[in-house]
Amino acid sequence: MRLRLYLFAILAALLVAPAGASDPQHPTLSPAQALKRLMDGNERYVQHKELHPDMSIERRRQIDQEGQHPYAVILGCADSRVPPELIFDEGLGDLFVIRDAGNVADDDVLGSIEYAVEHLGVQLVMVLGHEKCGAVSAALKSDKAPGHMQKMIDSILPAIKEARGLPGDQVHNCVVANARHVAFQIKTSEPILRLAVETNRIQVVAANYHLSTGQVEILDGLKPDKTTPAVLSTTQHAAGAVQK
Ligand SMILES: [Zn+2]
Repeated sequence: MRLRLYLFAILAALLVAPAGASDPQHPTLSPAQALKRLMDGNERYVQHKELHPDMSIERRRQIDQEGQHPYAVILGCADSRVPPELIFDEGLGDLFVIRDAGNVADDDVLGSIEYAVEHLGVQLVMVLGHEKCGAVSAALKSDKAPGHMQKMIDSILPAIKEARGLPGDQVHNCVVANARHVAFQIKTSEPILRLAVETNRIQVVAANYHLSTGQVEILDGLKPDKTTPAVLSTTQHAAGAVQK
């Protein structure tokens, strides 16, 4: 009898726990607050003043026991020079990262974003292109590629068409057009993501990473909420402190 009561209590606790319960490291950030946290981290990275948060043994244990509550989705390029956790100075459990060559959004990627939005409660999605992107350059040179790379090229071609004829550097123009195009694709993806955007549950931003400076430039959409103080103090950040 006592065992049955105990099991019932566990089951009740699991059912009552909200799906998107927040992480004490970043308690339920609005999209603008999430963007500010990202850009603050990028600024530390640019200045080479990284705090390397959420990398402690305590943090590892915390996310093992409490699950993951990332505050942003980053859809970035697989390029080895653009690792999101490093360029945003973040740690374990902070970012839900999806990467492929050319930061394109096929069904697998859209499904992953839907999972982060519906099951993890993430409110900010960033599409992160970057300067000198090899995948974009390849699609610019030719609309044909061997093997499975053809699919990747096909996904980038709409942006190549959009950027054709613009003045300035062609690769840069196509990288920017591609990030914007993929952000639009996510915003209009039926039925889950379009509804989440229309009901203001999520914001989608397009951004571009500059390899030489380390700077992330926001191309479209939301601005970071500058009125909000930092969510964590520097000390907590640096120590990856666990709040109970
Ligand atoms: Zn790339």
